[in-house]
Amino acid sequence: MTDTITADPVSRYVGGREFRNLVGGEFVAAGNGATSEVVDPSTGSAVSEVPESSGADVESAVEAARKAQPAWEAMGVDGRSACFARFGELLQGRREEMAMLDAIDSGNPVKAMRVDIDICMPYIEGWPAMARNLRGEVIPASPGNLHYTSHRPYGVVGRITAFNHPVMFAATRPLPALIAGNSIVIKPAPQTSLSTLGLAEIFAEAFPPGVVNVVTGGAEAGAALVTHPTVKRIAFTGSVPTGLAIQKSAAESGHVKNISLELGGKNAMVVFPDADLEESVEGAIFGMNFNVCQGQSCGSNSRVLVHRKLYDEFVQRSAEKLREYQVGIAYADETDMGPLVSAQHHERVSGYLEAGVGEGAKLVTGGDRPEGAPSGGYFMTPAVFADVAPGMRIAREEIFGPVMSVLPWDDYDQMIDTANSVDLGLTAAVWTNDVHLAHKTAERLDAGYVWVNDSTRHYFGTPFGGTKNSGTGREESTGELISYTEEKVVHTRLKDPAAAFARYTN
Ligand code: NAD
Repeated sequence: MTDTITADPVSRYVGGREFRNLVGGEFVAAGNGATSEVVDPSTGSAVSEVPESSGADVESAVEAARKAQPAWEAMGVDGRSACFARFGELLQGRREEMAMLDAIDSGNPVKAMRVDIDICMPYIEGWPAMARNLRGEVIPASPGNLHYTSHRPYGVVGRITAFNHPVMFAATRPLPALIAGNSIVIKPAPQTSLSTLGLAEIFAEAFPPGVVNVVTGGAEAGAALVTHPTVKRIAFTGSVPTGLAIQKSAAESGHVKNISLELGGKNAMVVFPDADLEESVEGAIFGMNFNVCQGQSCGSNSRVLVHRKLYDEFVQRSAEKLREYQVGIAYADETDMGPLVSAQHHERVSGYLEAGVGEGAKLVTGGDRPEGAPSGGYFMTPAVFADVAPGMRIAREEIFGPVMSVLPWDDYDQMIDTANSVDLGLTAAVWTNDVHLAHKTAERLDAGYVWVNDSTRHYFGTPFGGTKNSGTGREESTGELISYTEEKVVHTRLKDPAAAFARYTN
């Protein structure tokens, strides 16, 4: 596929195409023939169908993965890296198609989804390099004996993802498990499965059959993967309630599991009175990911705590900038912000707009339908709430939409208490030119990833994950690679060499 823009991307990339699961290198429908509709959130129209997989489909995928794993492990890091390189080449070659599938299916603007694919490349190159450095240790645990460790893959890993960065999650999140020698079963979010099924064609070309398997569907397929006795390692990205349900169902399955959870955020960005106002406004808007996934972003700074000295100006400038956003059809090149992922999610976010107004916050801009938007689409202009109090729902609950709540503050300790008062702790940001304030505040903010004078960006190699109910485990780092392995010790009792030698010479 080339990088040309077409007048009708839906016909070109989706029309007449069959999307199927990838199981053991074969493209297959759900065993019972069930499908679910793919709805284009820019128009509200059904554009395709994807398999609605059952427990039996998951069973087949896990079995294929189990059979393929020993040979994959035996290929070693070099052999596996060659597949990664091929995967990267193929993905780049189909960049426009993958970006368009995401725009059509998720509503994320196509220009942002092209960037999402570019973001995959350092991960595809980075994991093999990191895996080459995954070494065991020789430990002097007892005198005269030899104790060494090695990292063994689990076998089959289950990977369940959220809807907001579909192809980026499908292309990058399985990689550390794979490079460590595991095979995998991927289950993408039901709202946004198209690009993962498109990507399945690339997986099938780049990896041996059965090493990467893709099954689409909802909670039934997800739960079947989580509770499968062969799948000891589960990696999950999604909401807190689903994360908790997974921990519960895994425990009830009677099989001990290693589960990592990347969950929600209600992330605080703190703006000090000495901060550069223009930069911090830009940083807040950038950090909301309005123009990447309509603010449907776990790491977004949806609570901005601005010192009273800058507060009014901050609110006014943010609103002015957001009013310039082009909200429209996701696959049009000029669009800055597309529609929300589904009618149901639009309704949920609208409920928070009502709650904010009802609790006395001021909706300064946004939250309405953009003029001229297609009538069936789930559009919402980017919203800024001012005069937000810490106890309001819009200040405490994850909205996962294009809604930024701005809270004023005067007292430093109270501001820290407010920032830390929610039960989530994924990211935080500190905006100041004072190095002492920056680092002392970063230390006190209860979050897994804290930016100083920056937002949203995270890079391969830096551990990403949350404290409190935002999850457990860290991704994108050495720790994540190790988390796809079980450490093994070999303890050798070494005999006295003179006695051993004597046996051969006497
Ligand atoms: P969700 O929890 O509704 O669904 C996530 C996935 O879980 C989907 O694939 C879904 O089919 C599956 N699932 C649902 N029920 C299941 C069950 N009982 N067992 C197994 N799997 C099941 O989340 P969502 O709406 O797709 O995504 C939004 C959430 O994801 C937000 O809370 C957001 O903050 C979070 N998120 C976190 C990160 C991160 O890195 N921390 C990244 C992106 C999104």
